[in-house]
Amino acid sequence: MPPIELDQLRQYLEFYQDLGVKTVYRRDAPAPEAVKAPDDSPRSASAGESLLQILQDIGDCRRCRLHEGRHKIVFGVGNERSPLVFVGEGPGADEDAQGIPFVGRAGQLLTQMIEGTAKKEGINLKREDVYICNVVKCRPPENRTPEADEMEICGQFLYRQLVTIAPKAICVLGGTAAKAITGHKEGVTKMRGKWFQWRDIPVMVTYHPSFLLRAYNQDAKREAWEDLKKVLHFVYDCT
Ligand code: URA
Repeated sequence: MPPIELDQLRQYLEFYQDLGVKTVYRRDAPAPEAVKAPDDSPRSASAGESLLQILQDIGDCRRCRLHEGRHKIVFGVGNERSPLVFVGEGPGADEDAQGIPFVGRAGQLLTQMIEGTAKKEGINLKREDVYICNVVKCRPPENRTPEADEMEICGQFLYRQLVTIAPKAICVLGGTAAKAITGHKEGVTKMRGKWFQWRDIPVMVTYHPSFLLRAYNQDAKREAWEDLKKVLHFVYDCT
């Protein structure tokens, strides 16, 4: 809704008062998504560009402080035409060393989850058939959560990756990435298993595999498997 002038607001309020409405509430503005269209990028997102062009634009990126400690930029991996994209938070130590997302312990669990669930559900799918990337492309120091400005700066590249791949669905791993992509503020426990929307693409939120690695999370593991089943059937049934 465009901003309204004070006079106009007074008229609205008087109108509602005339209707007998005595109290009005101001609704919080939705949280802004970090993953939004680049506005000051030399190249704006278009469905016609390639992932290679985006990678070239990232270059030897120094746009935010995360470049200071990184070894490798972790851009993304997998099938560039995949109907399903997984989005995590940011690289850890193994990913930073190899330049590939989700190759450490959490990554191994993610691979098992994708391939194991698909197999159980009769879907022929390997990790390399999907596309995997993160909100930020450089490892945050000590694996801390990426800051809002870091996600906003790097989010423009994720935006372009998603526009280019144009998947049928996005599966978001963990609360940080969920917030960045959907703009919703609730915790992952509330958001998981539900469909959200990024532009016109359905988004399924589930737990981050690092969280699932903690032994006491048996229930969460079962729930994550359910979430994955939902997204796999949505994407791969009748494709
Ligand atoms: N955690 C993430 O969010 N991304 C990775 O690539 C690895 C671990």
